[in-house]
Amino acid sequence: MRRLVVGPRVCFATLKRAQPLDTAMYTGKRERPCCLCRNPETSHRLDLPPRAIEAMARSGRISWRDVVGEVSLYFCESDWETVEELALEVGMNPIGKCNAACADFDLREDFEALTNEVRGRQDQDAIEEEMLAAAKETRQAHEAGETVEARDLVEARVTVWTIADLREEQPAD
Ligand SMILES: [Zn+2]
Repeated sequence: MRRLVVGPRVCFATLKRAQPLDTAMYTGKRERPCCLCRNPETSHRLDLPPRAIEAMARSGRISWRDVVGEVSLYFCESDWETVEELALEVGMNPIGKCNAACADFDLREDFEALTNEVRGRQDQDAIEEEMLAAAKETRQAHEAGETVEARDLVEARVTVWTIADLREEQPAD
């Protein structure tokens, strides 16, 4: 649980910068703004299992159970540096600071959600297991001294920490 909380000494310098609420471009491109500061210029992306939405900031209105496929978060260059430092050096999960409203994901249509609810859950569980297994593999490769891209290791750590914390919080689900 403690991993979800970003301590007061960690400074997301850009977090407090005033930004208009919706600077997200609508160019038909899938790319979303930085999930920490809404800067439309992003340099890195993390792909996470649908349930990770629950751990993000402002996720209240999004039903992660209706999400199809993975959830992507984008980061600008300077916030990425902070995220990398947190995940790789400090050992903290930045997910709680990431704005779910800036995440990229697909939602099932309402009708489809009603008729295929059971199948949807199975698909989601399968995606989660698959992404978790891949993340653990990446982590083990790193621990075994293999060369792992920093970005891949960040994604692996955030995936493992986030899912572990969420499962701990909701053992019944
Ligand atoms: Zn940013």
